[in-house]
Amino acid sequence: MINVTKTFLPPQAEYQAILKKAWDTGWMTNRGILVQTLETELKEHLSVSNILTMTNGTLPLQIAIKTLALKGEIITTPFSYVATTSSIVWEGCRPVFVDIHPEYLTIDETKIEAAITPKTSAILATHVFGNPCHVEEIERIAKKHDLKVIYDGAHCFGVTYNGQSIFSFGDVSTCSFHATKLFHTGEGGALFCKPDYFEAMFFSHNFGHKSKEDFQGVGINAKMSEPQAAMGLAVLPYMNMILTERQQIVNIYDTALSALPIQKIKIREHTDWNFSYYPVIFESENQLLQVVKALETQSIFPRRYFYPSLNTIDYVKGKAMPISESISKRVLCLPLYVGLKIEDIETIKNILIEHI
Ligand SMILES: *Cc1c(COP(=O)(O)O)cnc(C)c1O
Repeated sequence: MINVTKTFLPPQAEYQAILKKAWDTGWMTNRGILVQTLETELKEHLSVSNILTMTNGTLPLQIAIKTLALKGEIITTPFSYVATTSSIVWEGCRPVFVDIHPEYLTIDETKIEAAITPKTSAILATHVFGNPCHVEEIERIAKKHDLKVIYDGAHCFGVTYNGQSIFSFGDVSTCSFHATKLFHTGEGGALFCKPDYFEAMFFSHNFGHKSKEDFQGVGINAKMSEPQAAMGLAVLPYMNMILTERQQIVNIYDTALSALPIQKIKIREHTDWNFSYYPVIFESENQLLQVVKALETQSIFPRRYFYPSLNTIDYVKGKAMPISESISKRVLCLPLYVGLKIEDIETIKNILIEHI
């Protein structure tokens, strides 16, 4: 069976050797030695000035919204995973969708200003498939209208823009370390923010504790545990190998599919991309469904990332978003992971050729 992704597992002995350090201290959570080591190593690996590891990649979004005290309307993208929208709703704000750019697939910055109202408090955009939003223009708009900016960078591990970590943009950026993501800790995630916000974010992710008996306000528990951090520390040394192998697979796909009339994502200029997904956009949903059916008969299971367009889910009732809705119906992420075989890519290619 071939799925859209396959979790990279380090040699078990290496994981256990790291986990043993937690065993030796008898300390399984509350920012133990492994979480602290992982944060130090990630800061260096990603060239970021701060990081707060968390239980998953959704809580950082919720903590950002809560801790920045956002209210009213938050401008967001309809083309993302549901967590981007659901975090806004969960925190009692209203998502206001702005359609996406048809080639970059990120929020269309030229349409943001028209969606701003006196109730708008922030922009929450996704660097979709690791492709950066137009961060300069979004920053200009946010400054002009006094809005906060949060980036859902769940797909962005290792991405740089103009030579700088993509996590260094916005008031807050987040990442997911879920087992299906590029770098993982089983479940896990992280928050990056402007230095001024770090302390407040830190308190928020630990019940609001300022000290043992003193609180900054309401908080939640989003602390990463030691076994999670052990997985991260075991996977991190393999990231260069993982990126190299994924790049090779992307190149093979690019060559194999070059003659077909399918649209590919356009990576923004000045980006060092991370090969996190291989999305292809078909001419019609019907064509996509035929390809999916044919792949499934060969036990190949791609995923419809991202479908449906988030403005259409029943608890938001957003306005029509023609570009996002059209692309959501036609986009498919092909299998991409360390260990995917050339023969399998060949099979996928032949099925695509047959059905297009
Ligand atoms: C995976 C993902 C999340 C959620 O991350 P979890 O770690 O699974 O909570 C949020 N946003 C996007 C765009 C994602 O792909």
